[in-house]
Amino acid sequence: MHTYNTATDELARAVIDYALSRIRMDPPPLDGARSAEELARIAGPTITEDGLGGLEALRVFGDVLAPATISIDHPRFLAFVPAAPTEASILADLITGASSIFGGSWLEGAGAVHAENEALRVLADELGMPESAHGVFVSGGTAGNLSALIAARFTAQEQRGRPDGGWRIAASEEAHSSVQSAANVMDVDVVDIPSAADRRLTGEGLRSALEQMSDTERDGVFAVVATAGSTNLGIIDDIAGIADVCEEFGLWLHIDGAYGGAAAIVREARHLFDGCDRADSFIVDPHKWLFAPFDCCALLYRNPELAAAAHTQQAGYLDVLADERNPSDLAHHLSRRARGLPFWFSLATYGLAAYREAVAVGLDLAEQTRTRIAEHPDLELIEPSGLSVVAFRRNGWGAAAYDEWSDRLLRRGLAFVTPTKVDGEVALRFCFVNPRTTMDDVELILGTLD
Ligand SMILES: *Cc1c(COP(=O)(O)O)cnc(C)c1O
Repeated sequence: MHTYNTATDELARAVIDYALSRIRMDPPPLDGARSAEELARIAGPTITEDGLGGLEALRVFGDVLAPATISIDHPRFLAFVPAAPTEASILADLITGASSIFGGSWLEGAGAVHAENEALRVLADELGMPESAHGVFVSGGTAGNLSALIAARFTAQEQRGRPDGGWRIAASEEAHSSVQSAANVMDVDVVDIPSAADRRLTGEGLRSALEQMSDTERDGVFAVVATAGSTNLGIIDDIAGIADVCEEFGLWLHIDGAYGGAAAIVREARHLFDGCDRADSFIVDPHKWLFAPFDCCALLYRNPELAAAAHTQQAGYLDVLADERNPSDLAHHLSRRARGLPFWFSLATYGLAAYREAVAVGLDLAEQTRTRIAEHPDLELIEPSGLSVVAFRRNGWGAAAYDEWSDRLLRRGLAFVTPTKVDGEVALRFCFVNPRTTMDDVELILGTLD
């Protein structure tokens, strides 16, 4: 099973041909929604005592399984947060697997970790974080938020010497669902801080919420989560104002830029991220708007030693690794794929200027689309929205009409746009990430709403 032979060559060529044909598809297929019953029927049993052989397994994948997925990089995939991995990043993903690198320790993965660290350094510099800032690539924003918040609580526990229990995270109502999920895992509460009329969490709002708490309640707050680009509407909190209050009250500032953080590399948008340089921890998902394949979240700490104190696993068999700064020590994980490598390879291949331009395309599409919707007689723009998100309603439509429309577009392979809720009411939402999306794509979708 492990022996290299000419059958491996044949399979390698077939796999690479397959990968290349998928990369070349323009556009890739869209409609892949299938029921579990249908798939079980058409795929049949594929894992057998004797094995199908690689070429047959590849055929099953290509003919049956892949068509039962929705391509996130289709230019009219505008639901959730899409993705658009670069060709270079996809190819580097192949060689990351082929290289069998343990990305958890410097000892085993130095070359790969060095490259990942350079990519992390570039992000820290773009945000203006200090020289001390450092971090690790984790699987996604959910894992990044959790690991950062664990480090925050560990630090508060060490510093405050208060009885355990009663720990709380302060976050705006617009914070991502993964913040609540982290709180559940950590068995702590989330205090919802009301956002201002423009949907931003402000320094003032945070201060007044903290002042209204009892001393005991306030002493339990170990972190404030600010969002740099909310998922639903692309809103960026008043980061600088929040940073002031965090400093005054001695609170860990975690910034969730999983989706929106990418826009900090665009010069015209950079001012929106003022204050991010003061974060104790920050995340951005390169698998969203920085054109890397899943799964890739950059987690940065202002003071990585605090994260290492919280996360480093101790065991006799790990002692040999203890002298180095290991990626494993900075998050809730041990074994890890060098998942930052495809992102590094892509940055190294195309350069930062190409990245700035490609992210700016999403901002530009959103701006043009907002104008277009504001002029449309049957559509109502929801304001404000920010970055590359546009939300709107179709006059006269109820929830069922939105669902039907969304299903119909997907079935026709035309677009993937799913309804969301804004202020408790159903709405439509576009999120632009893919630089291959054009205004013609937007017009095609809007044309189905007449
Ligand atoms: C997507 C997102 C997350 C979660 O990231 P995953 O990579 O899906 O785990 C967290 N926060 C925000 C703001 C997001 O947009």
